[in-house]
Amino acid sequence: MVDAIVIGGGITGSGVARDLALRGLSVTLLEKSYPGAGATGRCHGLLHSGARYAVKDPRAAAECASENLVVKKIAPHCVEETGGVFLAIDEADVAYGDMLLQACRAAGVPIDEQSPAESLNPDALRCFGTRDAAVDPFLLTLANLYDAYRAGASIIVGTGVKRIGEGFVETSDGSILKADAIVNAAGCECANLLEASGRQAPAVQPDHGTLLVTERRVCDQVVNRMRLPGDGDIIVPGHSTSIIGTTSQKSASTIPLRTEYHKLIREAVALLPQVKGARIIRAFSGIRPLLGSGDGRSLSRDYKIFEDAGLITIAGGKLTTYRLVAEHASDAVMRMLGKTGRCSTMSEPLPDVRREAQGAIECRCESAGHRIIDMPFLKNTDVSRFNRLGFGACQGMRCARFSNAPEDFLQERWKGVKPVIDEGQFQQAYLSWASYKTRMGDRWPGEMNSMPGNGGSSSE
Ligand SMILES: Cc1cc2nc3c(=O)[nH]c(=O)nc-3n(C[C@H](O)[C@H](O)[C@H](O)COP(=O)(O)OP(=O)(O)OC[C@H]3O[C@@H](n4cnc5c(N)ncnc54)[C@H](O)[C@@H]3O)c2cc1C
Repeated sequence: MVDAIVIGGGITGSGVARDLALRGLSVTLLEKSYPGAGATGRCHGLLHSGARYAVKDPRAAAECASENLVVKKIAPHCVEETGGVFLAIDEADVAYGDMLLQACRAAGVPIDEQSPAESLNPDALRCFGTRDAAVDPFLLTLANLYDAYRAGASIIVGTGVKRIGEGFVETSDGSILKADAIVNAAGCECANLLEASGRQAPAVQPDHGTLLVTERRVCDQVVNRMRLPGDGDIIVPGHSTSIIGTTSQKSASTIPLRTEYHKLIREAVALLPQVKGARIIRAFSGIRPLLGSGDGRSLSRDYKIFEDAGLITIAGGKLTTYRLVAEHASDAVMRMLGKTGRCSTMSEPLPDVRREAQGAIECRCESAGHRIIDMPFLKNTDVSRFNRLGFGACQGMRCARFSNAPEDFLQERWKGVKPVIDEGQFQQAYLSWASYKTRMGDRWPGEMNSMPGNGGSSSE
């Protein structure tokens, strides 16, 4: 019996487990797959300044503005302080700029007008600077989990929750775990889990978003289009690559589509001409649990915390504001249990969970010079993704041998390469495919037996 069970090892669940453990509660977190397996590991990695939401969602903008500073302070090792720009590339964008300036000032989001001629796109008509930054979602999640573990929480990776009962959960291996409070932080699966448990579920709509990865950095700052959030209007530098995103469609699929690939490229090249010369090495998709129902772009990116007799469900939100959401959810747990204990996560630094790779650079594309420190709860997990193995230009062709689950690793890489096979990427993809196939032989899934032609698989 523990004080609280947390379901889900994404950034939200990890943040809640840490917050509660630091307040002195006994906590067990269950993650069915691996830390960051959901939206957390499939996002842009943009630590929002708040400007993107200022016009449509001023409360979210203000929260992003303050949490942006908090995350930079407590986890500087997870953040690259790139700064960001908003660029206007047509007259409609220029006009939107006036609204954006006003809304940012009202919401307390720092923003300043800069010379467009000196921006990353010299043809831009208007340019604003912001405090956007790049954040590594896996490192941030692991830092929270590791700190929760150090504070006494039990972290169980690879075991899911099948059913939530009154004061207990039934796990995927049939065990019953009891707790005074249960926190459902299962991301886009939070509502399904409630329904499977015979409980009332909030209206949460799965919203699919696709991102593209460039072979090298095309920008050292976060670049946003100066308009209401739309498709292909953000480019985020991330380690040795840049990430172009995103789309928004009502769907629970994590398979990127060729149509999205073409749209994202078109929009990104218009925003930043440098994208044209860069090879796209991969696409991936994540699912946002949006509150309500309707067109994805019209729905809020806000979060809501639902309380129901011993059960707290967190739906929606952003990586940027995870700590604040975790604080509010933890406050609700404390109230529910009649306990006292103040939140300390606003100032308590997060541990750096990397160690030097000591000369053994496993991925030459990424020059991945760090490895994740040993964490007992990761002993059955393929930690290569946390070391960015295979994330660079060759997509694992050379470094798959360092993975401790090479089949899954290569299949995952190939899933992302396939939708972006085009002129620039064809040669590399062919080489990778041949190399993967040689390595996997009969274990290669049947439907991937033949190399798709230049132009990608027609089924997508
Ligand atoms: C395409 C895209 C781009 C985004 N870009 C950004 C961005 O740049 N900046 C930003 O701030 N936000 C961004 N977001 C939003 C952000 O990614 C999410 O708000 C955040 O990651 C949500 O974290 P979470 O922990 O709530 O959910 P998730 O990360 O989805 O975590 C839920 C976890 O629960 C686990 N789980 C599910 N069911 C069970 C079960 N039954 N038992 C045990 N475990 C279970 C899953 O395996 C998963 O690990 C983006 C989202 C998407 C989809």
